[in-house]
Amino acid sequence: MWKWDQGRMQYFQYDILRTMASFIVEYDFKNTDPSFIRQATKLDFSAPRTHSPWRNYSRIFKLCFLVYESEGIAIPTDAAKILSQSGMVTCDEFIHFLVEATTDPSPALSDWAKLESGSIRSPLCFSLKYLLAKVAGLNEFITPINEIISAYVYSGFNGDEEDTDFLDLLGKRSHFPDITRHGDPRQARESIKFISQISYLYISGSNIVASLSQEDAHDIFHSINPISGPRCSNGNDEIQRLASFFKDGTEHDFFEYKGTILSNVLESGFHEGSKVKKTHIIIERNTKLRNLYFDKFPSPICRSCQMDTSMKYPWVNRILDLHHILPLSSGTRVDSRTGTLLEDLTPVCPTCHRAIHRYYDDYLKKNKKNDFDNKDEAQEIFFQAKQSIVKGDCYA
Ligand SMILES: [Zn+2]
Ligand SMILES: [Zn+2]
Repeated sequence: MWKWDQGRMQYFQYDILRTMASFIVEYDFKNTDPSFIRQATKLDFSAPRTHSPWRNYSRIFKLCFLVYESEGIAIPTDAAKILSQSGMVTCDEFIHFLVEATTDPSPALSDWAKLESGSIRSPLCFSLKYLLAKVAGLNEFITPINEIISAYVYSGFNGDEEDTDFLDLLGKRSHFPDITRHGDPRQARESIKFISQISYLYISGSNIVASLSQEDAHDIFHSINPISGPRCSNGNDEIQRLASFFKDGTEHDFFEYKGTILSNVLESGFHEGSKVKKTHIIIERNTKLRNLYFDKFPSPICRSCQMDTSMKYPWVNRILDLHHILPLSSGTRVDSRTGTLLEDLTPVCPTCHRAIHRYYDDYLKKNKKNDFDNKDEAQEIFFQAKQSIVKGDCYA
């Protein structure tokens, strides 16, 4: 966990991981021509043009359990095969899987070879459980990222402890060490930001904020645990083993969040039903994310029909919805400096919002898909929907 590559944080984003999963399934990432890799993935891999992206970037995709190496070639994992299929899983499902699979040390890194038995910890599972225990047990939703790191250092927990252990630990917060005294824990912070792609989390300044009910936090706490079983001594074998634990969407019941969030979803006017759409709507209904967005961009204009909602409905404060422009199953992307990427969201009036989703439904049905393949397709169809709206007052 503490060795994530800070300069390449954007490559840990879910939409990029999906793009790479598709590439890795079709081609040998290690031995394919560098310019072809750039062209096929539309990613620039900031490295000299002559260098294979494999050299500087394979570590990222190994950390995310998409690829392993055997006899000099790059082989897609089971997780990559599932992820490469459009609409098969949601961002939440994949990030929760990475939470359960990620270990310290990681089989993707060289210190795996020096591993002594019994010294494996699950830092992401620890971090998420810490956040969930805080919501479920103490009704506290905001946590400084440095507090999680201090708790990890102080507790020695593996990530498989019970809720009572976490509550004990939370009671000892005043004893946590000041981790900034041993240098800036930047890499640890980056990996915690990574999990904020989950739809009920987001970053605000140096804090991570949870936006879910206490019951949901309790349920999710009890449904995550580090993946167990005998470890392989070879890192590549271990990546392959852990990746085989990732299952397609039909097996993940606990993502059907109960409590307040789901009831918000069911009240919405959209034709949901699939988990892909639910994740999308959970992000759009995230009150805290919404406040964060409108504090930053207070304009009352619908980006679709250009209506000034403050003129038309002067008595309502903020009637605009937030629409999330990435593929329906995407989480909110994370910017390593500023936290959540608010640019993936766009304000539209509730009528346009419903119409846009109707447009999406028609498009996906016509193309026999559950979801958009990537960010570009999602943006293109959003643009088309916007273009198709007839401007002006036609009911005068
Ligand atoms: Zn509108
Ligand atoms: Zn929407």
